[in-house]
Amino acid sequence: MLRQPILLLARSERVKQLVSILPVSSGIVTSYVPGETTQSAVDATAGLADAGLHATLDFLGEDTLDAEQADATVAAYTDLLSSLAARGLTRGAEVSVKLSAIGQALPDNGHKIALENARTICRAARNAGTSVTLDMEDHTTTDSTLAILRELRKDFPETGAVLQAYLHRTEADCRALAYEGSRVRLCKGAYNEPESVAWQDKLDVDLSYVRCLKVLMAGHGYPMIATHDPRMVEIASSLASRYGRVQGSYEFQMLYGIRPEEQRRLAAAGESVRVYVPYGHEWYGYLMRRLAERPQNLTFFARSLISK
Ligand code: FAD
Repeated sequence: MLRQPILLLARSERVKQLVSILPVSSGIVTSYVPGETTQSAVDATAGLADAGLHATLDFLGEDTLDAEQADATVAAYTDLLSSLAARGLTRGAEVSVKLSAIGQALPDNGHKIALENARTICRAARNAGTSVTLDMEDHTTTDSTLAILRELRKDFPETGAVLQAYLHRTEADCRALAYEGSRVRLCKGAYNEPESVAWQDKLDVDLSYVRCLKVLMAGHGYPMIATHDPRMVEIASSLASRYGRVQGSYEFQMLYGIRPEEQRRLAAAGESVRVYVPYGHEWYGYLMRRLAERPQNLTFFARSLISK
């Protein structure tokens, strides 16, 4: 019931300004974001590597309407990639990029600017010995994001995609992307979407997730199973057996700070596990989406604001 209103607030500039007075060190923020700096992201990656976990790092930011901001985001990624390489961490760490943070939403030539910026990040990732996954945002960007993915894969076939099970179109997108060499992260979807394009009931989203998972696990690509849902993890494991997939021919992914004990349990059982690590000062939209998934945390959030 609270999911929709919280997701609407996630896009409110006024509430963002109010909430952004919270320091990144406040409890609710640090439970999901390790810090604001490149150093904090690299340190978190090193900690995960020590625990046998891979990472994908997201420099927080989205929906930018400022070309200079988009350029600054590209620079943040190239800086991050060289810092990861310098610490010898790129074997187990890649980056996740939101195209709206690197220009996709710009009114003039946004698609083209985002493609060129993504190319720069892919080149830096290649030079550092790793890869990029393109995050998926709201449904108005899906076609543009998949078109950019196709372009990038001509030169950087290692580039990963994200598909969202709540969208009606996604089972077909999974079929189209289940080819050899294709890396696809399947998540449920985190945005406020209309009934015309997305399932609204949790049960329908879960059923779609399982159908999509079957397509990806039966296919020839590399499925990245992004969920904290214990039932989905269990179903993914039985599908791996059904389709004769060995450990390492797919991976589990979870968000930083969510079910860390389960991340370690899966890794100890021999599974590949990657943790999504967001960092930077633009944490507002990300935090609101996490609160929408778990409104129980609202009290914790309100307490952080009051004690500020
Ligand atoms: P849910 O049914 O929401 O949750 C299952 C269980 O997980 C809950 O019962 C609870 O125990 C635990 N849990 C879930 N959320 C929280 C939380 N916030 N705090 C504490 N516990 C929680 N979405 C996109 O739209 N685009 C993306 O590019 C994208 N990338 C992602 C990358 C990764 C690695 C992951 C894990 C998720 C990503 N998401 C993305 C978010 C995703 O779409 C879901 O919104 C989110 O993962 C919650 O769905 P769930 O599968 O965990 O299941």
